Amino acid sequence: MVLADLGRKITSALRSLSNATVINEEVLNSMLKEICAALLEADVNIRLVKKLRENVRKVIDFDDMAGGINKRRMIQSAVFKELVKLIDPGVKAYQPVKGRPNIIMFVGLQGSGKTTTCTKLAYHYLKKNWKACLVCADTFRAGAYDQIKQNATKARIPFYGSYTEVDPVTIAQDGVDMFKKEGYEIIIVDTSGRHKQEESLFEEMLQVANAVQPDNIIFVMDATIGQACEAQAKAFKERVNVGSIIITKLDGHAKGGGALSAVAATQSPVIFVGTGEHIDDLEPFKTKPFISKLLGMGDIEGLIDKVNELNLDDNEELLEKIKHGQFTLRDMYEQFQNIMKMGPFSQLMNMIPGFSQDFMSKGTEQESMARLKRLMTIMDSMNDSELDSRDGAKLFSKQPGRIMRVARGSGVTEKEVKDLITQYTKFAAVVKKMGGIKGLFKAGDMAKNVNPTQMAKLNHQMAKMMDPRVLHQMGGMPGLQNIMKQLQQGAAGGLGNLMGGFGGKS
Ligand code: GDP
Ligand code: MG
Repeated sequence: MVLADLGRKITSALRSLSNATVINEEVLNSMLKEICAALLEADVNIRLVKKLRENVRKVIDFDDMAGGINKRRMIQSAVFKELVKLIDPGVKAYQPVKGRPNIIMFVGLQGSGKTTTCTKLAYHYLKKNWKACLVCADTFRAGAYDQIKQNATKARIPFYGSYTEVDPVTIAQDGVDMFKKEGYEIIIVDTSGRHKQEESLFEEMLQVANAVQPDNIIFVMDATIGQACEAQAKAFKERVNVGSIIITKLDGHAKGGGALSAVAATQSPVIFVGTGEHIDDLEPFKTKPFISKLLGMGDIEGLIDKVNELNLDDNEELLEKIKHGQFTLRDMYEQFQNIMKMGPFSQLMNMIPGFSQDFMSKGTEQESMARLKRLMTIMDSMNDSELDSRDGAKLFSKQPGRIMRVARGSGVTEKEVKDLITQYTKFAAVVKKMGGIKGLFKAGDMAKNVNPTQMAKLNHQMAKMMDPRVLHQMGGMPGLQNIMKQLQQGAAGGLGNLMGGFGGKS
């Protein structure tokens, strides 16, 4: 995918900030130049690229800024924000409602991928247990009905169409009426296209829309046409009430920038992207995760979903301790146990400060697990007072005899025991910090409970403890801040939930 190149180029430009010893006009300009060149190359509209540059520059006032870290962070997050703005029309997409008919009409030029995408979307809803069906109102293209019939039959999607009726309006009306009566929830109407934006196409489109009164009109846009997307999208938007956009053919060699940035011009959100010809090749689209992914920060929202999916009961006891800044060796042991039970999960492990550095980011998942197991073996040789001490690390440093005993008992070197204690100390320090921040674990919207200064402190603290490579992977400080923010807002219970997730009941 060509978009990946764009991501790599922007990331590399952003990295130049981290490598620069001083951040000044010159550094900023050369970084912006690189980013803009990459965007233009990806077919993003030149007007929008210019605006992005201006907006980033506007945010940065060199006379008014203190330290280097601050400047870097501000510039990086300004770039992130502007990239999001490029593809975010700031409008919410139509959300189908269960238990009633939702009529979705597809529009777009011939060959853009309407018919294929209709089937994909119906299938998407079918898989989620919606009653979904298809209506073929394309009488323009020979074989249009056969195409739907074939695709729908394969996917077991109910469909309606006609070999004899020539009026698309009649077919659309009849099909929608029939499926409405039968209690269908997602009724997708495929319409015909033309090779270009002709008056006859728009006429037909309007008539069909008037007949079926769609809840949502989806404009299907072919990513491979690049810059031309904007004019096309605008033309459709002007004639019919386009509610959302699906971009197709983002697999292959499409540059994608043209299609994506056309969105800002149409004020309609992209809801899915097509990434292949198969019925499964349809991906839900969300702006921020898309940009994060593009920049290699990882799909943070996806990660939070994953944690939520685990659906682990919160470990009340551990949460209570964390609230008070407590974290014992036994707590750590139990976390490890849970991780082992959950299986491959290194991605999440990487997000835990202090843990990644020494044993999680090296080697394979299996090796990581083996390392965890070894650490647990070491802890198996500790006694209760060591495991449950409020300050286990101190106990060991004050009485080195304990280290010797544990090493002997578990058949490892003393250094390995010491390393484990160091690891524990790092983690416990973060927990202490988190517990010390009042309001972090209060119920409800925690963003309101923690003031920005406290949050900044916590972010900084976490950054210090993290493996620089992992921090980089997360997008540096702005990435980390973003994650923290999303954790606070996204997962119910925020950070507490994440920690609690690891402490799920055995
Ligand atoms: P319509 O004329 O708008 O109904 O377009 P079709 O649905 O008939 O699609 C035109 C062509 O584009 C077909 O060959 C599809 O297989 C292909 N196509 C549609 N969506 C995608 C996609 O996301 N990726 C790829 N590679 N091909 C697609
Ligand atoms: Mg078609």
